[in-house]
Amino acid sequence: MFFKNFLQKWETQSLSRIMLEAAPLACSLRDADNNILDCNQEALRIFGISKKAELVNRFNDLNPEFQSDGRPSREKATKLLRKAMETGYLRFDWMYRTLKGDPLPVELTLIRVPWKGGYAIATYSRDLREAKANEERMKEADRIAREMEVQARAAQAASEAKSRFVASMSHEIRTPMNAIIGMSDLVRTDNLDITQKEYFGDIKKMSHALLQIINDILDLSKIEAGRMDINPIHFNLHALYDNICSMSRFTAAAKEIEFRSAFDEDVPHVLYGDDIRIRQIIINIVNNAIKYTKEGFVEFRVSKITEDGREYIAFIVKDSGIGIKKEDFQKIFDSFQQLDSELNRGIIGTGLGLSITKKLVDMMKGKINLESVYGRGSEFTVLLPLVPGKSALIEKTESTDFAVSAENALVLVVDDNQINMKVALAFLARHNIKADSAANGLGAIRMVQQKNYDLIFMDHMMPGMDGVEAAKRIRAMDGERYKTLPIIALSANAVTGAGETFLNAGMNDFISKPIDPNALNRALLKWLPEDKVTVKQKPADHHSTAAPKGVMVLNKFQGLEKTLGDEDFYKQILTTFRNEHALDAKKLQNATGMGDRRLAHRIAHTLKSSAAQIGAEIVSQAAAQIEKALEDGGPGCLPEDFQELEISLKDAITELEALLCTGTSEAPARKASPREGPAAAGQALALAETLIPLLEKANTGSLRYVNEIRELFPPLEGKTESLISEIEDFEFKPALEILLEITALLKNSP
Ligand code: ADP
Repeated sequence: MFFKNFLQKWETQSLSRIMLEAAPLACSLRDADNNILDCNQEALRIFGISKKAELVNRFNDLNPEFQSDGRPSREKATKLLRKAMETGYLRFDWMYRTLKGDPLPVELTLIRVPWKGGYAIATYSRDLREAKANEERMKEADRIAREMEVQARAAQAASEAKSRFVASMSHEIRTPMNAIIGMSDLVRTDNLDITQKEYFGDIKKMSHALLQIINDILDLSKIEAGRMDINPIHFNLHALYDNICSMSRFTAAAKEIEFRSAFDEDVPHVLYGDDIRIRQIIINIVNNAIKYTKEGFVEFRVSKITEDGREYIAFIVKDSGIGIKKEDFQKIFDSFQQLDSELNRGIIGTGLGLSITKKLVDMMKGKINLESVYGRGSEFTVLLPLVPGKSALIEKTESTDFAVSAENALVLVVDDNQINMKVALAFLARHNIKADSAANGLGAIRMVQQKNYDLIFMDHMMPGMDGVEAAKRIRAMDGERYKTLPIIALSANAVTGAGETFLNAGMNDFISKPIDPNALNRALLKWLPEDKVTVKQKPADHHSTAAPKGVMVLNKFQGLEKTLGDEDFYKQILTTFRNEHALDAKKLQNATGMGDRRLAHRIAHTLKSSAAQIGAEIVSQAAAQIEKALEDGGPGCLPEDFQELEISLKDAITELEALLCTGTSEAPARKASPREGPAAAGQALALAETLIPLLEKANTGSLRYVNEIRELFPPLEGKTESLISEIEDFEFKPALEILLEITALLKNSP
């Protein structure tokens, strides 16, 4: 029995021993004086000790002199042990060190156990090295994350500061540029001598170049800040191609370079993509081709190709220019990189165009390839993924083949800059819109309360109350009309994101300054009430055959193309056309009235080709119809209806007059000899009557007539002076009133 009991006890103890040795906690038994009586394997392992005897002997070395709270280990251990003896249980963190001297943090649990009639303390140490190391790693990761966040915040603040800087710089620069470009478009140059005209021409050219540089820098900073958006729409690629060709042919002709173009038959006409950015890409490359070609040709081709199973639209631009060395192929796509080769000395550029082009192409998931032989020529190919568009979805407002007229519309322009205001009013006057003006946000609010405007053009940055604030306040005003009144931001701030600010402020749209006449045209069509707008179709591209009735706009590009881009020559031809054909509709009527078919045929035939020569396509077509009717009609059957020809010819002459009075060089003006008397009064009256429709159309070209009237009829000096000053101030309504007074005086003159 005893033996059995003994065996049982022995077995239990040995089981306990096994369990103790295998425990993942370091266990030891200590007496009241903290001497180790026994320990398990884990205790040896964590201290890095191989034998129990060593642990017992060197236990004191395994405690550092001080704990992490700064208290001496020995003193603290005695206290804690005593406490455990009293309470029976205690748990706390403790710092040991291994035999090698490395710190060994543990979670220590002390439990009082009976021992030899008294008590001992069983200790259980959980090794915290791994947990502490993890904690440290997490703390470090946390610290790094915080540091990165601080850095990111600083970078974001810096980037925002940069954006704000670019935005305000762009505003600062574009505002005066707007004035320079707008005013130089509107200024009259007929009283300048040749040198002055040349200077003036250079000012215009350079201000456009400067604007281009500013736009490039803005584009680049937008792309770098990730704020350049690609905004796809359904658009007519063929119209875009036509437009680019017209412009480029003209620029190339001025350098006596042949411009060839082709639009392959299988290329769809309607695409879905960002037409503005695609245009920017092509124009950059075509302009470069012309810029870096001294003689020969530039060829622009639009094709469809398939690569790696995907369809692309290929824009291929080939030139016979200076070429690029193979080692420079990559360089030219970097920002601010211009090649320093003998051949391109003296050619002005910023080295930004291709870098922007490349970035835009990348954003559209396209590719750009280059082949070139230095000294012989280059070929750039831009491949953009082909996404066919839907004709029905082409935005009506996208087209620029129309001109909006809205004489009954009530428009308010808000701008603090007097010159910009003048430019905006003059631009609106071209649409027969007489607008009110306000110099800041508060002024705008007052005006809006007084009158029922159809549309507001609101400048952004103004002293006092700015445009954004003004728009917000108008929207918050009581009354439905304040909620629906279209407000268009008119801002020199071209940075992306500005648009959002405007829309968030409750504005409807955004036009950037300098005002692009096409953008203004589109905005007027989009935002003015439909019943107040008349839309006149400009002569469409040369594919269209239907001649819109009663409207004529001279296509200057077409005309210039036919005179090899020589502006002076073109203007001479315009003058000849005016002198020889202005009365052709009347002459035709007389000839048919007299039954003179041959004369009528000659008039129609000559007019057909002369009109085509100056770019007056619709007149040419109307004349061609009459010519055909004269050929087809049987004997005695003569055309009688010349109304279409008459109206289009009249419009053409008005446009022609305007063209003759603008630009850098002028055709020789008709000279009026100063004299008085009935003949002079008659002539002056005729001129004054010609002037009336010009003034009604807000045409500053009308000034030349006023000068002639003044020379013809000096007694009117005072009146003509004030007329000139009103026209120069773009005050066409008072000008018209003075003109009517002049007409009345001339009619009554003896
Ligand atoms: P830049 O404003 O100088 O024209 P780009 O970025 O458009 O800037 O072009 C970078 C450089 O690439 C140009 O300075 C020019 O040296 C070279 N380059 C671009 N296009 C052509 C081309 N068609 N023929 C020859 N060199 C060209």
